Amino acid sequence: MTANTEHPILLDLPPLTAERFAAVEDKIAALLRTRCDVVAMQGEALLPLEACIRSAAPRGSTALNIVTGPYGETFGGWLRSCGAEVVTLTAPFTGAAGVDEVARALREHPHIGLVSLVHAEAATGNTNPVAEIGPVVREHGALLMLDAVASVGAEPLLTDEWGVDLCVIGGQKALAGPAGVSAVSVSARAWERIAANGQAPRRSYLSLLDWKERWLDGGRTALPHAPAQLEMLALEQAVDRIAAEGLDASIARHRAASAATRAAARLLPGLAPYVVRDQDAAPAATTLRAPQDVDAREVVAAALKADPRVPLQAAAGALAAQMLRVNHYGRAADRAVVQDTVRALAAGLESLGVPGGPDAAGTAEAAEAAGAAWDAVVAG
Ligand SMILES: *Cc1c(COP(=O)(O)O)cnc(C)c1O
Repeated sequence: MTANTEHPILLDLPPLTAERFAAVEDKIAALLRTRCDVVAMQGEALLPLEACIRSAAPRGSTALNIVTGPYGETFGGWLRSCGAEVVTLTAPFTGAAGVDEVARALREHPHIGLVSLVHAEAATGNTNPVAEIGPVVREHGALLMLDAVASVGAEPLLTDEWGVDLCVIGGQKALAGPAGVSAVSVSARAWERIAANGQAPRRSYLSLLDWKERWLDGGRTALPHAPAQLEMLALEQAVDRIAAEGLDASIARHRAASAATRAAARLLPGLAPYVVRDQDAAPAATTLRAPQDVDAREVVAAALKADPRVPLQAAAGALAAQMLRVNHYGRAADRAVVQDTVRALAAGLESLGVPGGPDAAGTAEAAEAAGAAWDAVVAG
């Protein structure tokens, strides 16, 4: 953006009213298919995620933490720092959590009062069957907290139908919106348990109860403090844009991007989808296994050298050498972007001299396969 000091478009806006703030929350509630309270939190999604755990995990309680990627690992640390006993259920990053294992963990640990789960993991490229896990958690009587940051707008998210008590979203993935504000839905059961937790944050930036007392219980007529106005307006525009496109169309775009990337990866030498089964693959991002004896970071660097605009990234942490990520979410969930990504990957592999090509014909074939897979999903 060029600096226009005479008419700076981000400044001197009329104040964001309580009414407008509440209207944004209502639009998010509709997107989440929930009739529960929704609070627009004034920070990135890690704020409501930590707020949920510190509010709903009393000292001495037991929590089941389902780990399918790095965010689950973060939740485990917060739960332990609350003084909760943590039962950890880890699924391999090549797949998803299974409802049978969740049911068994709940049977073996009848005191579990909170289950934390990530819906889709952009970092590991998998998605978990919340429609199956949610009812099992509800039957057990535990609260279910769901990190839906990487799933909202990319795949179905039926908060109330699935029995999700605390559903956290952010705008920065499939919604192609801002990262600076986020939202959480809170069920009536969750409010009861949080209110009963004497350790739940109060008079704190992490406090859900403060928002209830100062904002929701007052009928959302007065904001407790100055809102993050620009981010709230951007989030509203992002949600409006999804509504104008149609949520189903946005979901189809993300599913198509996943199918297209996986189809092409199977044709490129040495590459393979990291998540084995299509049904476990997150529509928001595809992770790929690097060719044997080739560092994934080198593949990413070589591909970005061929085309710096494509949404490729090396995985973080321990998987950095073997996994690469295609972040086909938001505006990148686009047929041409995915095909360009396939061509860039092919060029990168070729420049690294990976055995088996691809030559020009192989590259064209992979890009065509991506297009065909995309069309098949969009045609339904
Ligand atoms: C992206 C994402 C978040 C938000 O984290 P940032 O790294 O700050 O963008 C939270 N949870 C999940 C599952 C995500 O994919």
